[in-house]
Amino acid sequence: MNLFISFQLVLFWKSKLSQKKIGHNISIATLRSNFSEKLVLGLRFALFLSIHQSCKTHICNLCWREKKKKKTNSKTMVSDIDYAEMINSMKYYGKAIDKTISRLSHISSVSFQSKDYCSNDAVARICFPINSAKCCGGMQDNIDNVRNEENRNYSKEIKILMRLFGELINKEDLQQKMEQFEGKIELVIKDLVQQSFEKQSKLESESKINELKNMEEVNYLNFFFFFLQRQQEGNMINDIDMNGHMNHNSKSENVQKEIEKTEIGEIKPGINLQGYCVNEICLASKAKLPVWINIGFDDIAFAPNNSSFSCPDCKKSTVSFIAKAMFYNSEYSICASGDSMLVKDNNYQCSYTIKSGLSYELKANKIRQHAANIEDLRERSENAMNSTEIQNLITELQKYEITVVKPPDLKGNERLLEKIQSDYGGDFNQAFDIGRFTILCDNPTKLQTAVAVMKKAEQFHLIVSEDKDFFNKQSRTHHRFHNIKLYVPKHDVYIEMQATLKNFTTLEGYTVIENPKLSHLFYEHIRAWKPNNQSEEELKQASDETLTKINDIICEWIDAKEVKKIANRYKPHSEIRILKPPKLNGVTEEDIHIKRNVSLKLTKFVYDQLCKFDPLKMKGQAIYVVLFEYFKKHIMGEMNPASCADVVSLLKKSRKQELEDDTTILQALETYVPLQANDYAHTDNDVNEKNDSYDCRQHIIDFLVEQKEEQKSEQNKQVRVMVLQGKSGSGKSLFCRHLEEALWESYINDPSAPIPVCISLPKCYNELNETQIISQALQMKNINKEIIDIIRENISFVFILDGFDEIFDKYYKNNSNNNERYFYDRFNLNEWNAKICQLSKSCVKR
Ligand SMILES: [Zn+2]
Repeated sequence: MNLFISFQLVLFWKSKLSQKKIGHNISIATLRSNFSEKLVLGLRFALFLSIHQSCKTHICNLCWREKKKKKTNSKTMVSDIDYAEMINSMKYYGKAIDKTISRLSHISSVSFQSKDYCSNDAVARICFPINSAKCCGGMQDNIDNVRNEENRNYSKEIKILMRLFGELINKEDLQQKMEQFEGKIELVIKDLVQQSFEKQSKLESESKINELKNMEEVNYLNFFFFFLQRQQEGNMINDIDMNGHMNHNSKSENVQKEIEKTEIGEIKPGINLQGYCVNEICLASKAKLPVWINIGFDDIAFAPNNSSFSCPDCKKSTVSFIAKAMFYNSEYSICASGDSMLVKDNNYQCSYTIKSGLSYELKANKIRQHAANIEDLRERSENAMNSTEIQNLITELQKYEITVVKPPDLKGNERLLEKIQSDYGGDFNQAFDIGRFTILCDNPTKLQTAVAVMKKAEQFHLIVSEDKDFFNKQSRTHHRFHNIKLYVPKHDVYIEMQATLKNFTTLEGYTVIENPKLSHLFYEHIRAWKPNNQSEEELKQASDETLTKINDIICEWIDAKEVKKIANRYKPHSEIRILKPPKLNGVTEEDIHIKRNVSLKLTKFVYDQLCKFDPLKMKGQAIYVVLFEYFKKHIMGEMNPASCADVVSLLKKSRKQELEDDTTILQALETYVPLQANDYAHTDNDVNEKNDSYDCRQHIIDFLVEQKEEQKSEQNKQVRVMVLQGKSGSGKSLFCRHLEEALWESYINDPSAPIPVCISLPKCYNELNETQIISQALQMKNINKEIIDIIRENISFVFILDGFDEIFDKYYKNNSNNNERYFYDRFNLNEWNAKICQLSKSCVKR
């Protein structure tokens, strides 16, 4: 505000001067040291600018955009930077003006020393008196002198104020005001400006005759506020066209182009230094852009002018002229040479001006709790969470319909101990989630506000010490939130605040996500997993990626269109019937628990989730698809079927292949004539003389359906076998294929129907492996051996065995090792949930 007032005054004054065509030749000696230093500075600065403007045609060392040719010696460079620095500090630290005064004089003196660069006499005229003014009160002054000086100054102040505010106040009132404000001229001016405002509005309402004239004054005042605003916004003072403002053209004043503040390099946790690169071939250096260098968590000592740091742009050690130090997300200390005390703080983001000529010691540590033991930490956290400071903050947030969720109880010590052990190697002072609030907002704007409110935590006597923005930047797991560590000084402990959207949270009772625990449980399985071998390593990698994908869907890192695309691939478990992974076969819950085998636990978890989770919403379905695809690829193996649907499609595919390989059958199927059958045993010379034959296919289908109903009622897996006999050439093989086709059709209409599998016994029969003949046949149909046990347990079949007569000799001989007579037992068909149709030429003895 002080800065503003001084500028106001100066500009008021300047406008009056220009109106009266006095020009620059006013002696600044009229404003002596007793005058507020800030006012002097303001005047100096404004005059400096106006003079500076008048030297446009000269080659001026002080010009922001000076002629490049003159920019060769390093002296120029220094003053350029100082100049920029000065403007920066004026922009950001209105209060810091006192400190900048010395810097400003430094620049002025530079400009005098290099008169060849700037030869405008006015600079000399202004700066010298000020320098002498600064010398006032030196050794040679006695008390009388000082008093005389004070009196003189007082009357001069009155004089100047009368010139400025004469229309508003008479001399006596002004003197009274000076007394009232104990000679603090800034306050007097502030008060007068306020009066001017009030008078203005009064005049406006009283009369419209003076409107135009008054408007002018209002414009001035508006401009001053505008000017102040610009100062605060950090825009370059140079960009304001002073002449433009002086000609009262309000239209052009209302439209102002903003200049973007550009900085190079990224601010990261720990110590960050801002300086200028001096490497001639560096672009950042050429553009005179300030660059940020991140030192990280460290302990450093440096002198800004004698140190050089690595440039983030050109990567050379050419950054010097450090002007600013910023600490980010750390506990830190800073100390300048000559200072006896070091400054310690833990605010998440703090900048300090670095002065040339001094040396500095900077230290930044990662935020840590300050507890003596876990119990101590738990107690502090609990006290802090119940403290009035935190309560006040929560109340404030809740006023704006922001949901603040407090954990029901601080985690039990056992759980806490385990987590501290696994996550932080036993270092409890790294644990911040003991006391964690969740903050839930309706939309991103609300969230932004909530975070901003938390960052202004000083008003609640809290300190924001860390702000990790995982809302706009992705975290490792893509879980989306703002993580803010609030320091509660009273209890010397950090409390965590996690802020996110209501749509994104998986917090039970607040979430809109189906099966919200899935993401968290999945994470818990892989969080502390240390893989033992290559395949585990790969599974962990894939698991991490899957978790990321799931969180991408939950937290909308991918857009709704993409989510929809994934969700479209969803098929429920009830439809595709997911197969149990072979790994889990014969493994009990206890085994999994005892074995501490992460990969096995994870397999069980994913399989269970896929069987239980029945999503209805788009996000839920997309999550299911992602999980299923992970299951299929990384748990079952890409070569294996992961569901009954996969088995079906494999069998269909191999059937198609078999038919394509056997063109005679394929052609014959197209011109198929229904096979007739009867109930009599077949003999080679048999001719059906009785007219009681029936359609064979229909007969078998009826048989299967009948059996199905029987099974339902009896609840036992009674397997029935139908044997079909026919002489050679009667079309048995063709009938097999035809029956298979018909059964496929009925399967499509009713997926609970058994799956037909045509097995050509001569192709897969092996005496040594008789009991595994079905397995053998399925392997020939591209179903992996390891999955066959699972298939056997989960899928019901109709096996159509063809060509039994062709293997009969081998089969019969093999009987010597085996006392079983029935093929049903010898082929281990009882292991299968299947109906058997066996076709053979000659009668097989039972
Ligand atoms: Zn560089």
